[in-house]
Amino acid sequence: MLNMKRRNFIKAGGVVAAASLAGFPFISFGKSTGRVVIVGGGYGGATAAKYLRLADSNIKVTLIEPKTHYISCPMSNEVLAGERNISSITVSYQALNTNYGINLVHQMATEIDPVQKNVRTADGRNFPYDRLIVSPGVDFRWDAIAGYDESAVAAMPHAWNAGNQTLLLRKQLVAMEDGGLVIIIAPPNPFKCPPGPYERASQIAHYLKQHKPKSKILILDQKDKFSKQGLFKQGWKQHYAGMIEWIPASQDGKVLAVHPDKMMIETDFEEHEGDVINVIPPQKAGKIAQMAGLTDKTGWCPVDQKTFESTIHKDVHIIGDASIAGKMPKSGYAASSQAKVCAAAVAALINGQTVAEPSYVNTCYSLITPNHGVSVSAIYQLNDEGNIVSVKGAGGLSPMDASAWEREQEANHAHSWIRNILSDSFG
Ligand SMILES: Cc1cc2nc3c(=O)[nH]c(=O)nc-3n(C[C@H](O)[C@H](O)[C@H](O)COP(=O)(O)OP(=O)(O)OC[C@H]3O[C@@H](n4cnc5c(N)ncnc54)[C@H](O)[C@@H]3O)c2cc1C
Repeated sequence: MLNMKRRNFIKAGGVVAAASLAGFPFISFGKSTGRVVIVGGGYGGATAAKYLRLADSNIKVTLIEPKTHYISCPMSNEVLAGERNISSITVSYQALNTNYGINLVHQMATEIDPVQKNVRTADGRNFPYDRLIVSPGVDFRWDAIAGYDESAVAAMPHAWNAGNQTLLLRKQLVAMEDGGLVIIIAPPNPFKCPPGPYERASQIAHYLKQHKPKSKILILDQKDKFSKQGLFKQGWKQHYAGMIEWIPASQDGKVLAVHPDKMMIETDFEEHEGDVINVIPPQKAGKIAQMAGLTDKTGWCPVDQKTFESTIHKDVHIIGDASIAGKMPKSGYAASSQAKVCAAAVAALINGQTVAEPSYVNTCYSLITPNHGVSVSAIYQLNDEGNIVSVKGAGGLSPMDASAWEREQEANHAHSWIRNILSDSFG
């Protein structure tokens, strides 16, 4: 990733923000009577539903999502720090119906039949489609860490889907004595939100520094490097000296087993006892994508990266974390950008039009303190082989020598980003 000079970087931030707003072609096709069903109303599915209706208000769009409110993972680490309430990142789906006429079905999709082109929901209803968009997010690989099954999350929360798990982890942090040890197990690649575990360590440290300053955080990592590593380590040294220890996989960070009853973790050479243990398990595409046969041997969904149509099943598109989207990370911003590209492609295909050449965008902000933000940004395009690659010279990492003022500006950008994306996707 390109390292930019400070002034250019701040300018580029503005360009990226503008690109995301202008990224969707507002073409109104206006003739079709197609039926599009969308499974999963996260950043991918909700955005696709809205932008499909903006592209062609004649397309009938049905969004199948069990919850009536979406709780955002982005900024949920601030809930752990006690810096925000979960209600501030909880949004209703209702505006998608009221403002855009999207048919909301609050049910779990239980079966996709790609031959009959039908989705079945838990209440036994059928939803036939001309095209289907699937955005179910990730599922955890429950068999990957010995001792970490679905019952273990009550003692060792993952908090990797925002909601009750986030609140449980927060409760455990509040109950912990000063001088306690918090252990975070960071997952192997690829996973949802590459900088997330390290932002989480920062946010927990921010809380501990104020309320339990003798406490420590140990990160056991299943890999040897991580996103924005230099920036995080610099921030930890500046704000949390001696509080956060990061152990990479090659230096005995690899976890062999967890023991929730003893609050203990085994690695090759050590046993670690923690007062609070946050296990972020290895991941794969959401269950419904696996059940529908949309995944390959990697556990993720291969797609034509121009339209996000499955390379396995025709007329089914997969976006967001579940898809294999070239060099794009698994982030909410990436999911929303892919949703816009996919919505434009689906509208074109339904209307028998040519699919436009797409471009894609992503920025991942991370908060090291409430006033110290860092980010990585990129603009993407398709290469000659049809893979999404980043555009050279566009985007970049926050500079290592940024001033306190610039770090604060990035934190402000992070906070305005969450308001903007929630309103763009769900408003
Ligand atoms: C702690 C944390 C911090 C993060 N911070 C950021 C950040 O700062 N910036 C950023 O860009 N990204 C961030 N992310 C990543 C971001 O949350 C995901 O990349 C994003 O949510 C992916 O969108 P999605 O639509 O693919 O999946 P999701 O948002 O996970 O949505 C999937 C939806 O599908 C629904 N669903 C699943 N199965 C079915 C089914 N069978 N039937 C019907 N519905 C179904 C689920 O209920 C869910 O609502 C963070 C993630 C975490 C965990």
